[in-house]
Amino acid sequence: MEDKRYFDSSTEDEELPEKKEEEMAETEKDEDQDEYEKVCMVCRRPESKVKHMIEMPDHLYICSECAQKTMEPFMTGELDLSRLFENMPANVSMIQFTGPPVGEVPQRQRIKKKKPKEEPKLPLEERLRRIPAPHQIKAQLDEYVVGQERAKKIMSVAVYNHYKRVESGTMDDIEIEKSNMLMVGPTGSGKTYLVKTLARLLEVPLAIADATSLTEAGYIGDDIESVVTKLLAAADNDVEKAERGIIFIDEIDKIAKKRNANQRDVSGESVQQGMLKLLEGSEVEVPVGANSKNAMVPLTTVNTKNILFICGGAFPDLEEVIKERLNKQASIGFRADLKDKYDHDRDLLQKVTVEDLRNFGMIPEFLGRLPVIFSLDALTKEMLVKILKEPKNAILKQYQKLLALDEVKLEFEDGALDAIAEKAMEQDTGARALRAIIEEIMLDIMYEIPKDDNIGQVIITEEYIRGKGGPRIITRGGM
Ligand code: ADP
Repeated sequence: MEDKRYFDSSTEDEELPEKKEEEMAETEKDEDQDEYEKVCMVCRRPESKVKHMIEMPDHLYICSECAQKTMEPFMTGELDLSRLFENMPANVSMIQFTGPPVGEVPQRQRIKKKKPKEEPKLPLEERLRRIPAPHQIKAQLDEYVVGQERAKKIMSVAVYNHYKRVESGTMDDIEIEKSNMLMVGPTGSGKTYLVKTLARLLEVPLAIADATSLTEAGYIGDDIESVVTKLLAAADNDVEKAERGIIFIDEIDKIAKKRNANQRDVSGESVQQGMLKLLEGSEVEVPVGANSKNAMVPLTTVNTKNILFICGGAFPDLEEVIKERLNKQASIGFRADLKDKYDHDRDLLQKVTVEDLRNFGMIPEFLGRLPVIFSLDALTKEMLVKILKEPKNAILKQYQKLLALDEVKLEFEDGALDAIAEKAMEQDTGARALRAIIEEIMLDIMYEIPKDDNIGQVIITEEYIRGKGGPRIITRGGM
């Protein structure tokens, strides 16, 4: 009997979960629909932008304005319905829908509804207290980013001030200036990495764009406002979230005016011009989930007032510009100095001023909207060694974890780390070269280890890196 009951109940149960799942999927779908705005199938405006949305069968919606426009030709007599069928072959039905319904909006193009105003907002003091203090932001950055002490300090303060400004809003007449930043640093010195780490720590959406791909509106390429579309996508189409995010524009030096050029270089300059309004704060109408406003995609408005813009670039030859200025200063009056005084100055980039950047080709209005300017150090061999092993998610730690899953211990001799750093220095791409080098040396090891269960430890030697020997393999037995 026991068995029978067990069987009976199990057969009953077999059908139940399926049904439940179906029902649950249905309700989830409904809830999901509820989170997003309805979009008019004709003009593609979301419900927050139209007067009234009319629901039709199959989850299609049309706004009252479009519905009215559609009816106008019939009302004014321009279109005579009775004559519509006159020339139609008998076997053709009037409307043939193929494929998905016309009005269906793909998930990535849907706009999240504005959340109803939450219960009374937290008091200002409480909200301000929730912003991590500069030393806390820096301490967290320290866990991931090696060196760049000055840059980390400047960024922590700027970010702290930025979010204080956002929270305090329009408290009184004193407007706190936006802390948009301009970062100068050689390739692979960690510009992108710093911004990515920062956005993750602050839990705000981040969009990364390349200044070289940006063009003025109307030209082939992404127009400048497309960076806001990217941010909106990163914020899961949630406008409020996007409006507190970070936009990082890399390779900003590529849109400098050409120096010493005879003909006027307009392309870079006009992209800089085009960015002014965004940097300062303006309302932009952006397509949701697509790069072009021409496509039939919903549009929404994003205010860039509280978006933090960080621009970064390698600015090659900027050192020459700085040197020129310093030499000029030095050759005047009592401070006359040797001309080559700054030739071997490693901290030259730290001395960058707005004037230097203007001489480089950035327009004054643009620089005026990036009040926080700082530079990153070129990575030294010692820093590269630290980058290999110290950050929370250091490359070596990642490989050690991978091998640990096969119960194999992985070690690197100090000499090996030096040799890897030296190899990376030769490539002149900063820390970017490290991963490629490590991947190459680890390839054979990762391939061979799973073949032999006896391997208990692998030691990467300096000779192996320099191509003069192999790694040391120790079996589980001990030797
Ligand atoms: P870029 O300055 O050209 O934007 P990236 O930020 O892309 O350079 O750096 C490339 C990679 O090098 C990063 O993903 C990161 O793993 C590593 N890296 C660079 N600088 C540092 C640093 N100071 N500390 C830790 N890792 C770094």
